[in-house]
Amino acid sequence: MQPRGEFRVSVTKDYLVFASAHFITFAGHRCEGLHGHNYRARVTVEGALNQESWFVFDFVELKRIMKRLCDEIDHLVLLPLESDRVEVREDGASVSVSVDGKPRYVFPTRDCALLPVPNTTVEMLAELLTDRLRAELDKAGARGLTAIEMEVEENFGQSAVYRVALA
Ligand SMILES: [Zn+2]
Repeated sequence: MQPRGEFRVSVTKDYLVFASAHFITFAGHRCEGLHGHNYRARVTVEGALNQESWFVFDFVELKRIMKRLCDEIDHLVLLPLESDRVEVREDGASVSVSVDGKPRYVFPTRDCALLPVPNTTVEMLAELLTDRLRAELDKAGARGLTAIEMEVEENFGQSAVYRVALA
């Protein structure tokens, strides 16, 4: 049999969305006010064909994992835990947020997603979702995958794409 090229499979669905609040900091001292987006995720995985099933990865499984990852941060305030300027302190039932040393917000803990990112930009959200997806794919025993590409859109026509090659 002659060697085959590689395949890419993509998933983007109405339910791969998360309606979340955030604010980002910019270089210097600028910082946005709190606001929300209907974020949408689109994922592409690349890899060799599984010779038993003739697919790269099971769509049903991929959609299930992605839906769970989106649901985890849906309807929450997304807060960065690795920012130099935004300090997020969890104290039981509430989370206090300071920006540049000044108190800014207090949220109920249950309404927050504390994320291991330096800023809640779409770029960082795309990387975070990719890391989480990668861990889930490992757990699911996925083999032969060569790359993951994650797009996170925060507005129509405004998105970031993160791509990682898998060893
Ligand atoms: Zn925004």
